[in-house]
Amino acid sequence: MAAPFNPYDNYLEVMERAAKMLGLVPNDYASLQQPERELKVSIPVEMDDGSLRVFEGYRIQHSSSRGPCKGGLRYHQDVDVDEVKALAAWMTFKCAVVNIPYGGAKGAVKVDPSTLSLNELKNLTRRYTAMILPLIGPERDIPAPDVGTNADVMGWIMDTYSMFMGFTSPGVVTGKPVDIGGSLGRREATGRGVMFVVREYLHRRGIPMIGTRVAVQGLGNVGGTAALLLHREGCRIVAASDVSGGLYDAKGLDVPAIAAYLSQRGRLLKDYEAPATAKRITNAELLECDCDLLVPAALENQITASNAGKVKAGIVVEGANGPTTAEADAILERLGKKVVPDILANAGGVVVSYFEWVQNIQSLMWDEEEVNRTLEKIMIRAFNEVWDKTTKHDTTMRMGAYMVALERITKAKRIRGVFP
Ligand code: GLU
Repeated sequence: MAAPFNPYDNYLEVMERAAKMLGLVPNDYASLQQPERELKVSIPVEMDDGSLRVFEGYRIQHSSSRGPCKGGLRYHQDVDVDEVKALAAWMTFKCAVVNIPYGGAKGAVKVDPSTLSLNELKNLTRRYTAMILPLIGPERDIPAPDVGTNADVMGWIMDTYSMFMGFTSPGVVTGKPVDIGGSLGRREATGRGVMFVVREYLHRRGIPMIGTRVAVQGLGNVGGTAALLLHREGCRIVAASDVSGGLYDAKGLDVPAIAAYLSQRGRLLKDYEAPATAKRITNAELLECDCDLLVPAALENQITASNAGKVKAGIVVEGANGPTTAEADAILERLGKKVVPDILANAGGVVVSYFEWVQNIQSLMWDEEEVNRTLEKIMIRAFNEVWDKTTKHDTTMRMGAYMVALERITKAKRIRGVFP
């Protein structure tokens, strides 16, 4: 039987391979092999019915070599420490690949947020914030939304931290509601970044966007926006899914209608009234469906050794973090499939988080046009740097992206030296 999937091992394998390709020696990357700091907390919450539940939570800081630690907070029933460690490490590399001045971190609470009332969710968030308080701050570590969290959760973190400090500190968290210092364009930023990367990639290969058949796994914050924007650019979204399952329509799905339907909390795609041309499919079937470009935008560990050989799409653009295992990567490469890696493809979110933090520190506000324009510029620059590195070393874009990031991280480490 295969060993259970460990995303942190997956990270190590990829990072070490890229380091060797760059000719780095173990001393150069030894401190990237484990996180700098790991905090585990037990979070007691008084439930609405008077019972007490204790939730498991984490905040893990992988690296602060290039700046304050940065990364989202995930609420999901299946999280474990190795997943959070991997997610934190991927943030270090993501921030380096787009060249924003941050290290990497990630937080998580093992909970299915859909089973909590608003009041329970708020109390959980406030208590979690209090328990990780010594680690966070605008100059230390800045959380943001991820799977299962949203702007409201970020607002509660901002308020809790501010209450402890005795002054309002908007820069402690990004992805906040716009009315309390959030950035315009932040909610759509990850999906918009995916669209820019798809556009640049197709352009490089001389493939027109119009008519390119796209399948999107996950219609959450990332996949939902990516599907809408790709549809607007002329792609044909032939398949899409959420936790309840998916739809396939060779003629193309009515993405704006589906997005409008799903915009109400609690609605699921399985209850959407689809036209007769659409076929119901599972999430597993979506990954293997007939399309040109696949965007896995849900969770990690989706394309594995057991289904990689069945992927029909020629191009995979990773909207999620870590959707492809290292084994699957090797299979896709052998089959000539091209993968645009997560640390580049989904970096748009943290790029606009950076803009939000900059606006908070300077106490000013950019308009949405400026946010989107600057995001586009950074995504195109990062894409080109990764493309050039990939071409130069005649390797995959994942290796290219890791090499670009590793050069920046190890350079910062070299300049700073080892304390004391
Ligand atoms: N959770 C997002 C990610 O995985 C955003 C992180 C951030 O904005 O700090 O990239």
